[in-house]
Amino acid sequence: MLIKAKEKIEKDYDVIVIGSGLAGMTAANKLAKNGRSVLLLEAHNKLGGFATWFYRSGKKHVFDVSLHGFPFGMKKTCRKYWNKEIADHIVQLKSVKFVNPQYNIESLFTKDDFTEKLVTEFKIERETVESFYTFIENMNFYDDQSMTNGQLFERFFPGRNDVARFLMEPIVYANGSTLEDPAITYGIVFSNFMKKGVYTFKGGTDYLIKMMQTELLNNGVDIKKHAPVEKIIIKDGVACGVELKGQIINTKAIVSNANLKSTIFKMIGQEHFSKEYTDKAQEVRMNSSSCQVYMGLKPGETIPFIGDLVFTSTHPTFDTEALLSKDITSRTFSIYYPEGRPYDTDKKYAVVSSTNAHWEDWANLDEDQYKAEKEKMIEETIQCLEGFLPGIRKKIDVIDAATPLTVKKYTRHEGGSSFGTKFEGLEVSMNMHKELSGMFHAGSVGIIMSGWLGAANYGVIQSNEVESWLYQLEKENKTNSTEDNHAQL
Ligand SMILES: Cc1cc2nc3c(=O)[nH]c(=O)nc-3n(C[C@H](O)[C@H](O)[C@H](O)COP(=O)(O)OP(=O)(O)OC[C@H]3O[C@@H](n4cnc5c(N)ncnc54)[C@H](O)[C@@H]3O)c2cc1C
Repeated sequence: MLIKAKEKIEKDYDVIVIGSGLAGMTAANKLAKNGRSVLLLEAHNKLGGFATWFYRSGKKHVFDVSLHGFPFGMKKTCRKYWNKEIADHIVQLKSVKFVNPQYNIESLFTKDDFTEKLVTEFKIERETVESFYTFIENMNFYDDQSMTNGQLFERFFPGRNDVARFLMEPIVYANGSTLEDPAITYGIVFSNFMKKGVYTFKGGTDYLIKMMQTELLNNGVDIKKHAPVEKIIIKDGVACGVELKGQIINTKAIVSNANLKSTIFKMIGQEHFSKEYTDKAQEVRMNSSSCQVYMGLKPGETIPFIGDLVFTSTHPTFDTEALLSKDITSRTFSIYYPEGRPYDTDKKYAVVSSTNAHWEDWANLDEDQYKAEKEKMIEETIQCLEGFLPGIRKKIDVIDAATPLTVKKYTRHEGGSSFGTKFEGLEVSMNMHKELSGMFHAGSVGIIMSGWLGAANYGVIQSNEVESWLYQLEKENKTNSTEDNHAQL
């Protein structure tokens, strides 16, 4: 049931999910399918979290915020934990391009294609490429985490900054990882993409979220939007309710899909955890943020096919700090052709430019500086795009930009982080229910559990943990009632 904003919630639930990002929604859906009563609370006026969209000029223009590409695994996850129709809308991107001073390459972004490019264009021995792939494919979360991305590339491709750029730059965009991050954070995500290439959702994010909302409601999830949870209620070391606009709603388990740190320090309160745990949580770093420039074309204007994703950079070498710098040298253009939105009545073309960014570079500007910097970013982005699509300036109907401040405003993620926390957040997130019974976290922690696929899969993982907890409660209740019965006899 969709609960209206002003409507009061009168019943108790098995599970309350705070936040409707892909992890929150997937956890809610799975638990409801298992027969649990589930309440999904979302602060925003629509579901999806980062998996979102917005309109301009009425509904003349629609922009996808985070639909640039995800690994094939999303199809399997959607088929298994959502439905076939959603899974069937997941389609492969046709072309990924890389244009920078070191190379100009078009690829399908698959292992076979990348191997060919590394051998023929970068002149690397096939054996070396194969041993690199074998190494990263065998990486798993429980491996030694001391090797960094930088060390990984030096081990297989010593002194080859161009190769490191080819292999790493797209993943830096995909999850903000740096050369100093543990190599497994890169290896697992890169291997996921390399299995079958990059995929997207046909119909757009709005269509996907509409389908997901329908599925949630069909499975009996109660959904309330405009519902920012202020507080999580803890009694005797057990999470047992949430406070929403002054009202307490009782539950047996809570899954927070909100930012990890705000869940611990703002909604729960550090007094409910051990010092060792909160010390670890304090140390968790946020991932970097990002800026986007959204461009919608005038009705009737078209653009030729230049690829679906175009990774561009004018920086002479690969340098993760340069990728984050406010003096932008690297941009990834996502080109949205009308075929991607077959259900829209008019043919829409849009281009979105994405750039990684530091929160501090934008958060400390005064109003005028902020406005001026945004305008500068827009102008430089058009100039750059003109190099790939001459004459594009005249075709643009609407243009808008988002900064780390926009990201924070809409998702409440500290520092406007686009991919939640750095790697160390995963342990803190996974251990939350061990510290506080009935309290679980799912979503955007550690690069592996971020992105559309990572977040959705993490929702599944944590819903299994919730099931174990509910099962344990049921067992205890049964034992207690048997003991009561014996006592009465
Ligand atoms: C610009 C950009 C581009 C991206 N591009 C890609 C891409 O191409 N491919 C890809 O795979 N990934 C991409 N990502 C990342 C991906 O979108 C995210 O990792 C994923 O969607 C995060 O899902 P999540 O479950 O962690 O929840 P989030 O999306 O973080 O959602 C959390 C939800 O919780 C809600 N919430 C928070 N606090 C409360 C509260 N107190 N009460 C109620 N609700 C609350 C928020 O409103 C939000 O809806 C991109 C991200 C950004 C920012």
